[in-house]
Amino acid sequence: MAATASSLLAAAASVSTSRAAISPRAAASAPSSSRPPLRASPARALRSRRRGVAASAAPAMQPPAVSRVSTVVDVDLGDRSYPIYIGPGLLDEPELLQRHVIGKRVLVVTNTTVAPLYLEKVTWALTYQNPNVSVESVVLPDGEKYKDMDTLMKVFDKAIESRLDRRCTFVALGGGVIGDMCGYAAASFLRGVNFIQIPTTLMAQVDSSVGGKTGINHPLGKNLIGAFYQPQCVLIDTETLNTLPDRELASGVAEVVKYGLIRDAPFFEWQEKNMAAILAREPSALTYAIKRSCENKAEVVAQDEREGGLRATLNLGHTFGHAIETGLGYGEWLHGEAVAAGTVMAADMSYRLGWIDESIQKRTFDILDQAKLPVAPPKGMTVEKFRNIMAVDKKVADGLLRLILLKGPLGGCVFTGEYDRKALDETLHAFCDN
Ligand code: NAD
Repeated sequence: MAATASSLLAAAASVSTSRAAISPRAAASAPSSSRPPLRASPARALRSRRRGVAASAAPAMQPPAVSRVSTVVDVDLGDRSYPIYIGPGLLDEPELLQRHVIGKRVLVVTNTTVAPLYLEKVTWALTYQNPNVSVESVVLPDGEKYKDMDTLMKVFDKAIESRLDRRCTFVALGGGVIGDMCGYAAASFLRGVNFIQIPTTLMAQVDSSVGGKTGINHPLGKNLIGAFYQPQCVLIDTETLNTLPDRELASGVAEVVKYGLIRDAPFFEWQEKNMAAILAREPSALTYAIKRSCENKAEVVAQDEREGGLRATLNLGHTFGHAIETGLGYGEWLHGEAVAAGTVMAADMSYRLGWIDESIQKRTFDILDQAKLPVAPPKGMTVEKFRNIMAVDKKVADGLLRLILLKGPLGGCVFTGEYDRKALDETLHAFCDN
């Protein structure tokens, strides 16, 4: 073990150092020249119509004759069940969205990065041949550091100034930050209004938009304030990923890997063979990764919506990861980057406990490394820092830190507070400077 672990860690250290150099947000926004061009969109058609061309002269934007929904995954929660539509070009199909709108007033919550890309298209989809619906929007500043009470208040300001009533619909258009904040706003505005998720990052498409966890951060800890609140539907237009920077795509891959490790060994094996295709954004590989991830999440949420136990397993690597995010300051590392390093730490600890064999530890390291994700925490995350932050984690119960650890063959895990504290200590010391 010692030799293998230290070689893994040596590799981890060099990877993480070189990434720290590129790391923070600077690298997050890929230069526009590296982004694939957007195809002709309803939004553009709308823009050209607005540029003074007589309405009758402009060809009316038409939805496709045949639906491009390639998959529908159902989240089975009784009378709060909802569909997840997955496919390319779904924002060009107004009917899909409109059938889940309640009332005549819609508030789209988005941010300064996503609004210029997709707000007009979504507005078109909501209003196409639907003159009775009016759409307001609120464009929030972009970033995890704005997932806070002040920014949330801007959503309420807009909703109240616009005199929205209980029969309105909030639409989250963006990544996990927007989805979590808009969902929480929908849960609490007038004690709950209708809510739709349009996730536009891989992270949000495979994880955060599904399952109804909503909320904001507190300076002392991530996602400490929030509510369980399910959307009416999740609409995943896989073409929105065409504009996503590579670093953000990789961040979402960390959650895809998670599903394989905790409950779906065949999916993990598929990922090992197809990681290059996912990173190259091959449509069929991406669509399968999203579909299988949503199916896994839907199955877990259907069994344990409010995280009595099973759902907590979706947080593999997150306790270490949240500590990194909080310790560094929100937004320094992307969520998936922190989760990736945390997952390697959880696998290391599982191996030290003797709960998994060495090959699973190594495959965990290898697949995250192949996805170009960090495989160790950043410099500056000391043992003390980890301990202090993890002590206020939501999974602490009666003073005991419960963790998700891998156990048994590939695809097995446990959520437990019963482990040898020495193993946690050894893992922290193995991965931290002191
Ligand atoms: P994010 O929302 O910050 O989005 C990442 C970046 O991509 C942002 O700059 C965003 O503006 C930009 N972006 C979004 N869509 C784009 C597109 N199509 N093209 C170009 N740029 C685009 O981050 P994220 O990784 O999507 O989500 C992370 C958040 O999700 C964290 O706050 C995390 O706590 C939360 N989360 C929640 C759950 C849950 O169950 N509710 C699960 C996992 C993560």
